[in-house]
Formats: sequence, C-alpha cells, structure tokens
Amino acid sequence: MNIVQYPHPSLRYQARPVTRVDDALRSAASRMLGLMYEAKGVGLAATQVALPWRMFVYNPAADPSKPELERVILNPVILEKKGSLDESEGCLSFPGLYQKVRRAKAVKVRYHTLEGSMEELEVADFVSRIFQHETDHLSGILFVDKLGPIGRLSARPALARMEAEFREAQSRGEIAPDAELVRRIDEIASGGAVSP
Ligand SMILES: [Zn+2]
Repeated sequence: MNIVQYPHPSLRYQARPVTRVDDALRSAASRMLGLMYEAKGVGLAATQVALPWRMFVYNPAADPSKPELERVILNPVILEKKGSLDESEGCLSFPGLYQKVRRAKAVKVRYHTLEGSMEELEVADFVSRIFQHETDHLSGILFVDKLGPIGRLSARPALARMEAEFREAQSRGEIAPDAELVRRIDEIASGGAVSP
C-alpha cells in the first residue's frame, strides 16, 4: 500500500459504501494510519491508497503518540453545514501544494465506526475541514477542484508538472496505464483481495 499522487485515476474513483467490517478492512485502516503519520498528514482517504471504500482516517494532531485523537471513519455523510472559512489546505496526494480553500466552518456528520456503531457529531474549524476534505475524496473530488480563480491560476504550474511526471513514469513503465490502475480498483471493489 502506498499513497498515490495526482493524477492517479484512483483519486477520481467513486468509493463504495462499506457494508462489512472484517480483518482486511481493519488492517487497511491501520496501514492507512501508518502511512498518514509517516507522511505527517492529518487525514488520508481510502481512494488515496487505491482502495475503493468509503473510509478515511484522521488525527488532527498528525501525531502517532496521540492515538486517542485518531479516528477511522466509515461511510461519512455531511448532514449540515454552517458558516464558511477560507484557510490554507494541502493534500498528501499533492505534495508541496497549498492553496486557500473555502469550506463550511462547522459541519454535522454521520458515519459508522470500525466497531459497527453509527455516530453523529458536530465538528468545527480544523476538524470540520478534515471531514469535508476527506469526504470529498470518497466522491472523487479533490481540493484543487475547490479553488477560486486566483488559486486555480497559481496552482496550474504545479498541477501541470505533476501531470507530466505521472505520464512520464507511466511511459517508462514505472506506473501502470490508467486503464490497468482502474481495473485493479474495480477488482477490489467487486470483492477481490486487498493488495498487500
Ligand atoms: Zn487529500
């Protein structure tokens, strides 16, 4: 498992609802937390590790020594949004790119836990931003889709560079062609094994 970078097609995948919590899912969640901490991130969505499930992990402290703050979120739904806040945002699939994104200041969310319970929660500010950013990922929506005209313009060179590097890696055979990458995710979604 590794964190995929833009424009890997998994980042545009429509993740499927989690219908069963089994050892494979628990193990995927724990590996995602490990990768997130390694990359010093605060959140990581399943589509960022080429898995097709509506699942993300987060820890607002980005600190593995604070496991009491880490959460595994399944099937998140944003029920209500309140207010708005412009803050700088980044993404582990876009290393080095930070742009201001307008998000709701507070959201009411509903999700399942790994233990199988359904929770409802109101979160604000930074954690609200994490929920919105990660829930977007599960619908194939990326933070660069949310930029205003100025942000879009200033992000353009970085995005063009990432696209060129990804396509070059594909032409060197280091990354599989898009169709093959999508086929692998589809296979996992249709009940195939989770890749190691
Ligand atoms: Zn992200």
